Amino acid sequence: MDFRQLIDSYQNCDCGMEHRCDIRDIRVGSGLVNQVGQILRENHFPTHILLVADKHTLQAADGIVQSLEGFQVEQHIYDELRVATMDDVRLVEDWLDRVDGVLAVGTGSIHDPSRLACARRNKPLCLFATAPSMDGFASYNAPIVDGNFKTTHPAKCPEVVIADTRILADAPAELKSAGFGDMVSKYIALIDWQVSHLLTGEHYCQRVANLTREAADRLMSMADQVTARDEQAAGAVFESLLMTGIAMSFTGTSRPGSGTEHIMAHYWECQELLEGKLPNYHGEDVGVATLIMLRYYEELAQWTSVLARREENDWDTIYDDYGPLAEDVRRLNTPDTITDPIDPGEVERLWPEIVAIIRSVPSYEQCLDAMERAGCKTTIRQIGKDREFVARSFRYHPYMRRRLSLRRVANMLEFVPHELPEC
Ligand SMILES: [Zn+2]
Ligand SMILES: [Zn+2]
Repeated sequence: MDFRQLIDSYQNCDCGMEHRCDIRDIRVGSGLVNQVGQILRENHFPTHILLVADKHTLQAADGIVQSLEGFQVEQHIYDELRVATMDDVRLVEDWLDRVDGVLAVGTGSIHDPSRLACARRNKPLCLFATAPSMDGFASYNAPIVDGNFKTTHPAKCPEVVIADTRILADAPAELKSAGFGDMVSKYIALIDWQVSHLLTGEHYCQRVANLTREAADRLMSMADQVTARDEQAAGAVFESLLMTGIAMSFTGTSRPGSGTEHIMAHYWECQELLEGKLPNYHGEDVGVATLIMLRYYEELAQWTSVLARREENDWDTIYDDYGPLAEDVRRLNTPDTITDPIDPGEVERLWPEIVAIIRSVPSYEQCLDAMERAGCKTTIRQIGKDREFVARSFRYHPYMRRRLSLRRVANMLEFVPHELPEC
């Protein structure tokens, strides 16, 4: 796939928004680990660089250091990095007085501190991806844990992205399945984005939405091959993740690639961090959250018409639930909250359109079947949570982001269920 051409084709979009993507070069191919130095030179990358990795990702990228002949390479190697903290950002940042660029080897928790540190110090960044496990590469925000809170910070996307399909194919099956779970979530993201556009006039670009949709559909059709040690399949999964990553960079928000299911997974992660638990892989939690939301949205779609009223929130109970996170949540919901400007009459009038939006994506059953074939975890029990905790999160998670979802709009509806669905 020619990504540069794809990115260029979104310039001067009819929607009127400038679609930016700062990635200059993307290479996906077999054996590229031996050409990293060459690719960096072709992109005029500086030669005094910091290589950031953990022991696992460095081992997976065997040969990368040898490929950097002619470069002066400093190394910052973690033992294992599952949760990236502000301390990790500072550690990378401390190096940046001495080097001119960063090569991050790994995805997610390796990449995020590098993206933030490089943004703060205005240094070029190259991502060498070792697993097709998530799609946050092109994002302008980085999720970082500070104390017990995970917050997003303005970051940058890498100038150069390299993936060696041989390494992607060898990645642990659970990481590939997690990548699949992260992609299925795009269907909920697309529903929430369109519903918000309909009810609040939030900017929506059909072409960017199509990019997300194509990437998700493409991956769904490959469910059987996802966990195979197959270079072509692994490369295709990575390309789909890149496509949604680029879609998110086009709007400068995560809107095209993350909906209420991501917020619910974020709620789980925050609460588990407070309890000192090691969170699951991002895509594992997101995948199960997606199934829950698909099931719920399908329940809503059975209503051919609805009665709506203004949302009534018992703020004391809501803040109580958030405990030490309450202040952050309060800030997002005062002096007003996201549903305040929505006219209940409009919700009633536009309901048939909302039902059509829900029905425009693959069903719960189709997604469940595809996820099972892709080796994903699909139940609350499999991701190690209890039903009561998930029921709480189902009710309270929408308040931790100031972003409208259909889940939140459902609070304005009379008679429809507001509880965690059976699944
Ligand atoms: Zn557009
Ligand atoms: Zn995600």
